[in-house]
Amino acid sequence: MLEIASAVVSYGRIQAVRDASLRVSEGELIALIGPNGAGKSTLLNAASGLLRAHSGSIMFAGHHIAGWRPDKIARAGLLQVPEGRQVLGPLSVEDNLLLGRQAAAGRPPRHALDDIYRLFPILQERRQQKAGTLSGGQQQMLAIGRALMGCPRLLMLDEPSLGLAPIIVKQVFDALRDLRETGLTILLVEQNASLALAISDRAYVMEHGRIVLGGPSAELRHDPRVIEHYLPSI
Ligand code: ATP
Repeated sequence: MLEIASAVVSYGRIQAVRDASLRVSEGELIALIGPNGAGKSTLLNAASGLLRAHSGSIMFAGHHIAGWRPDKIARAGLLQVPEGRQVLGPLSVEDNLLLGRQAAAGRPPRHALDDIYRLFPILQERRQQKAGTLSGGQQQMLAIGRALMGCPRLLMLDEPSLGLAPIIVKQVFDALRDLRETGLTILLVEQNASLALAISDRAYVMEHGRIVLGGPSAELRHDPRVIEHYLPSI
Protein backbone atom coordinates (compact mmCIF):
# COMPACT_ATOMS: atom_id res chain seq x y z
CA MET A 1 0.00 0.00 0.00
CA LEU A 2 2.85 2.37 0.90
CA GLU A 3 6.37 1.85 -0.33
CA ILE A 4 9.09 4.36 0.43
CA ALA A 5 12.41 3.67 -1.28
CA SER A 6 15.70 5.44 -0.55
CA ALA A 7 14.00 8.63 0.57
CA VAL A 8 16.17 11.65 1.32
CA VAL A 9 14.54 14.64 3.03
CA SER A 10 16.41 17.78 4.04
CA TYR A 11 15.80 21.00 5.90
CA GLY A 12 18.08 23.32 4.00
CA ARG A 13 21.50 21.72 4.32
CA ILE A 14 20.50 19.38 7.15
CA GLN A 15 19.61 15.90 5.92
CA ALA A 16 17.01 14.66 8.40
CA VAL A 17 16.19 11.50 6.39
CA ARG A 18 19.23 10.10 4.64
CA ASP A 19 18.25 6.92 2.87
CA ALA A 20 15.10 5.46 4.26
CA SER A 21 13.05 2.63 2.82
CA LEU A 22 9.96 1.05 4.28
CA ARG A 23 6.88 -0.82 3.20
CA VAL A 24 3.39 -1.04 4.63
CA SER A 25 1.11 -3.70 3.17
CA GLU A 26 -2.66 -3.71 3.30
CA GLY A 27 -4.05 -4.64 6.73
CA GLU A 28 -0.75 -4.30 8.57
CA LEU A 29 -0.03 -2.22 11.64
CA ILE A 30 3.56 -1.07 11.24
CA ALA A 31 5.52 0.78 13.91
CA LEU A 32 8.41 3.16 13.27
CA ILE A 33 10.46 3.61 16.42
CA GLY A 34 13.70 5.40 17.23
CA PRO A 35 15.11 8.15 19.40
CA ASN A 36 14.29 11.85 19.39
CA GLY A 37 15.46 13.52 16.22
CA ALA A 38 15.96 10.27 14.27
CA GLY A 39 13.85 11.59 11.39
CA LYS A 40 10.61 9.67 12.00
CA SER A 41 8.28 12.67 11.78
CA THR A 42 10.18 13.99 8.80
CA LEU A 43 9.65 10.72 6.95
CA LEU A 44 5.94 10.71 7.78
CA ASN A 45 5.60 14.32 6.67
CA ALA A 46 7.28 13.48 3.38
CA ALA A 47 4.77 10.67 2.82
CA SER A 48 1.81 12.94 3.56
CA GLY A 49 3.19 15.70 1.33
CA LEU A 50 3.90 18.25 4.08
CA LEU A 51 7.58 18.01 3.18
CA ARG A 52 9.18 17.21 -0.15
CA ALA A 53 11.56 14.30 -0.54
CA HIS A 54 14.76 15.46 -2.20
CA SER A 55 15.21 12.06 -3.83
CA GLY A 56 13.91 8.53 -3.64
CA SER A 57 10.42 7.35 -4.40
CA ILE A 58 7.17 7.24 -2.48
CA MET A 59 4.44 4.98 -3.87
CA PHE A 60 0.98 4.89 -2.37
CA ALA A 61 -1.80 2.65 -3.67
CA GLY A 62 -0.03 2.36 -7.01
CA HIS A 63 0.67 6.09 -7.47
CA HIS A 64 3.97 7.94 -7.32
CA ILE A 65 2.91 10.56 -4.78
CA ALA A 66 6.21 12.38 -4.17
CA GLY A 67 5.51 15.98 -5.21
CA TRP A 68 1.73 15.72 -4.77
CA ARG A 69 0.06 18.37 -2.63
CA PRO A 70 -0.99 17.23 0.88
CA ASP A 71 -4.70 17.64 0.14
CA LYS A 72 -4.41 15.45 -2.95
CA ILE A 73 -2.56 12.80 -0.95
CA ALA A 74 -5.24 12.96 1.76
CA ARG A 75 -8.00 12.58 -0.83
CA ALA A 76 -6.18 9.53 -2.17
CA GLY A 77 -6.64 8.02 1.31
CA LEU A 78 -3.32 8.58 3.03
CA LEU A 79 -4.29 10.41 6.21
CA GLN A 80 -2.00 11.59 8.96
CA VAL A 81 -2.79 12.34 12.59
CA PRO A 82 -0.08 14.92 13.21
CA GLU A 83 2.08 15.19 16.31
CA GLY A 84 0.40 17.72 18.59
CA ARG A 85 -3.09 16.78 17.33
CA GLN A 86 -3.99 20.14 15.72
CA VAL A 87 -7.73 20.06 16.30
CA LEU A 88 -9.71 23.19 15.46
CA GLY A 89 -10.12 24.67 18.95
CA PRO A 90 -13.05 27.08 18.43
CA LEU A 91 -15.18 24.43 16.69
CA SER A 92 -17.21 21.78 18.48
CA VAL A 93 -16.04 18.20 18.73
CA GLU A 94 -18.72 17.12 16.29
CA ASP A 95 -17.88 19.84 13.77
CA ASN A 96 -14.22 18.78 13.89
CA LEU A 97 -15.30 15.23 13.11
CA LEU A 98 -17.61 16.32 10.30
CA LEU A 99 -14.83 18.42 8.76
CA GLY A 100 -12.74 15.28 8.61
CA ARG A 101 -15.21 13.93 6.08
CA GLN A 102 -13.80 16.27 3.39
CA ALA A 103 -10.80 14.03 2.84
CA ALA A 104 -13.05 11.08 1.98
CA ALA A 105 -13.45 12.53 -1.52
CA GLY A 106 -16.36 10.32 -2.43
CA ARG A 107 -14.88 7.07 -1.09
CA PRO A 108 -17.59 5.12 0.72
CA PRO A 109 -17.36 6.00 4.41
CA ARG A 110 -15.84 3.35 6.61
CA HIS A 111 -16.69 5.11 9.85
CA ALA A 112 -19.81 7.13 10.62
CA LEU A 113 -20.06 9.54 13.58
CA ASP A 114 -21.62 6.76 15.64
CA ASP A 115 -18.63 4.49 15.00
CA ILE A 116 -16.27 7.18 16.24
CA TYR A 117 -18.42 7.69 19.32
CA ARG A 118 -18.42 3.95 19.96
CA LEU A 119 -14.63 3.90 19.69
CA PHE A 120 -14.21 6.95 21.94
CA PRO A 121 -17.37 7.37 24.07
CA ILE A 122 -16.00 10.50 25.76
CA LEU A 123 -16.23 12.32 22.42
CA GLN A 124 -19.98 11.68 22.33
CA GLU A 125 -20.34 13.08 25.84
CA ARG A 126 -18.40 16.16 24.75
CA ARG A 127 -19.75 16.46 21.24
CA GLN A 128 -21.06 20.03 21.59
CA GLN A 129 -18.01 21.22 23.52
CA LYS A 130 -15.33 23.35 21.84
CA ALA A 131 -12.45 21.13 20.87
CA GLY A 132 -9.96 23.57 22.40
CA THR A 133 -11.39 22.89 25.87
CA LEU A 134 -10.74 19.14 25.71
CA SER A 135 -7.88 17.49 27.60
CA GLY A 136 -4.81 16.42 25.66
CA GLY A 137 -5.97 12.82 25.58
CA GLN A 138 -9.42 13.75 24.36
CA GLN A 139 -7.88 15.92 21.64
CA GLN A 140 -5.77 12.96 20.56
CA MET A 141 -8.91 10.84 20.32
CA LEU A 142 -10.62 13.61 18.36
CA ALA A 143 -7.68 13.88 15.96
CA ILE A 144 -7.84 10.14 15.32
CA GLY A 145 -11.63 10.28 14.93
CA ARG A 146 -11.36 13.16 12.48
CA ALA A 147 -8.86 11.23 10.37
CA LEU A 148 -11.12 8.15 10.42
CA MET A 149 -14.01 10.26 9.14
CA GLY A 150 -11.85 10.95 6.09
CA CYS A 151 -12.00 7.27 5.21
CA PRO A 152 -8.28 6.47 5.30
CA ARG A 153 -6.83 3.64 3.29
CA LEU A 154 -3.72 4.15 5.39
CA LEU A 155 -3.79 5.94 8.73
CA MET A 156 -0.46 7.40 9.88
CA LEU A 157 -0.07 8.53 13.48
CA ASP A 158 2.79 10.60 14.82
CA GLU A 159 3.51 9.97 18.51
CA PRO A 160 -0.06 9.45 19.72
CA SER A 161 1.12 8.70 23.29
CA LEU A 162 3.09 11.94 23.65
CA GLY A 163 2.28 13.71 26.89
CA LEU A 164 -0.68 11.51 27.81
CA ALA A 165 -1.37 9.81 31.13
CA PRO A 166 -0.87 6.02 31.03
CA ILE A 167 -4.59 5.26 31.34
CA ILE A 168 -5.35 7.47 28.33
CA VAL A 169 -2.48 5.94 26.36
CA LYS A 170 -4.06 2.55 27.01
CA GLN A 171 -7.43 3.76 25.68
CA VAL A 172 -5.83 5.18 22.55
CA PHE A 173 -3.79 2.03 21.90
CA ASP A 174 -6.79 -0.23 22.56
CA ALA A 175 -8.63 1.77 19.92
CA LEU A 176 -5.75 1.35 17.46
CA ARG A 177 -5.79 -2.37 18.11
CA ASP A 178 -9.56 -2.47 17.45
CA LEU A 179 -9.09 -0.51 14.23
CA ARG A 180 -6.41 -2.87 13.06
CA GLU A 181 -8.73 -5.77 13.73
CA THR A 182 -11.29 -4.21 11.40
CA GLY A 183 -8.64 -4.38 8.68
CA LEU A 184 -7.46 -0.77 8.74
CA THR A 185 -3.85 -0.29 7.63
CA ILE A 186 -1.83 1.77 10.13
CA LEU A 187 1.65 3.29 10.25
CA LEU A 188 2.51 4.35 13.79
CA VAL A 189 5.46 6.55 14.74
CA GLU A 190 6.11 6.07 18.42
CA GLN A 191 8.93 6.75 20.85
CA ASN A 192 7.47 4.35 23.39
CA ALA A 193 9.02 1.25 21.84
CA SER A 194 7.52 -1.33 24.17
CA LEU A 195 4.00 -0.10 23.43
CA ALA A 196 4.69 0.12 19.73
CA LEU A 197 6.21 -3.35 19.51
CA ALA A 198 3.37 -4.82 21.56
CA ILE A 199 0.71 -3.58 19.18
CA SER A 200 2.36 -3.83 15.75
CA ASP A 201 2.84 -6.66 13.25
CA ARG A 202 6.21 -5.41 12.03
CA ALA A 203 8.44 -2.54 13.01
CA TYR A 204 11.30 -0.44 11.72
CA VAL A 205 13.98 1.20 13.83
CA MET A 206 15.21 4.58 12.60
CA GLU A 207 18.43 6.23 13.75
CA HIS A 208 20.17 9.30 12.32
CA GLY A 209 17.86 9.43 9.31
CA ARG A 210 18.30 5.79 8.34
CA ILE A 211 16.26 2.64 8.87
CA VAL A 212 18.76 0.48 10.73
CA LEU A 213 16.60 -2.50 11.61
CA GLY A 214 13.27 -3.98 10.58
CA GLY A 215 11.29 -7.14 11.07
CA PRO A 216 8.37 -8.78 12.83
CA SER A 217 7.69 -6.97 16.10
CA ALA A 218 7.61 -10.23 18.04
CA GLU A 219 11.21 -10.84 16.95
CA LEU A 220 12.41 -7.27 17.48
CA ARG A 221 11.18 -7.44 21.07
CA HIS A 222 13.88 -10.05 21.67
CA ASP A 223 16.60 -8.44 19.57
CA PRO A 224 19.50 -7.50 21.85
CA ARG A 225 20.06 -4.19 20.03
CA VAL A 226 16.43 -3.21 20.54
CA ILE A 227 16.44 -4.33 24.16
CA GLU A 228 19.60 -2.42 24.94
CA HIS A 229 18.57 0.87 23.35
CA TYR A 230 14.79 0.92 23.40
CA LEU A 231 13.47 -1.48 26.03
CA PRO A 232 15.58 -0.64 29.06
CA SER A 233 13.08 -1.90 31.60
CA ILE A 234 12.71 -5.40 30.15
P1 ATP B 1 10.86 13.49 17.49
O1 ATP B 1 10.36 12.29 18.17
O2 ATP B 1 11.63 14.40 18.36
O3 ATP B 1 9.82 14.18 16.65
P2 ATP B 1 11.84 12.43 15.03
O4 ATP B 1 12.50 11.10 14.93
O5 ATP B 1 10.45 12.53 14.58
O6 ATP B 1 11.98 12.94 16.51
P3 ATP B 1 12.33 14.62 13.30
O7 ATP B 1 11.38 15.52 14.01
O8 ATP B 1 11.93 14.07 12.00
O9 ATP B 1 12.77 13.43 14.25
O10 ATP B 1 13.72 15.40 13.17
C1 ATP B 1 14.82 14.87 12.45
C2 ATP B 1 15.93 15.90 12.40
O11 ATP B 1 15.54 17.03 11.65
C3 ATP B 1 16.33 16.43 13.77
O12 ATP B 1 17.73 16.60 13.77
C4 ATP B 1 15.64 17.75 13.86
O13 ATP B 1 16.35 18.64 14.66
C5 ATP B 1 15.63 18.21 12.42
N1 ATP B 1 14.46 19.04 12.13
C6 ATP B 1 13.18 18.71 12.35
N2 ATP B 1 12.36 19.71 11.94
C7 ATP B 1 13.14 20.68 11.45
C8 ATP B 1 12.91 21.96 10.86
N3 ATP B 1 11.66 22.43 10.70
N4 ATP B 1 13.98 22.68 10.48
C9 ATP B 1 15.24 22.21 10.63
N5 ATP B 1 15.54 21.00 11.15
C10 ATP B 1 14.51 20.26 11.57
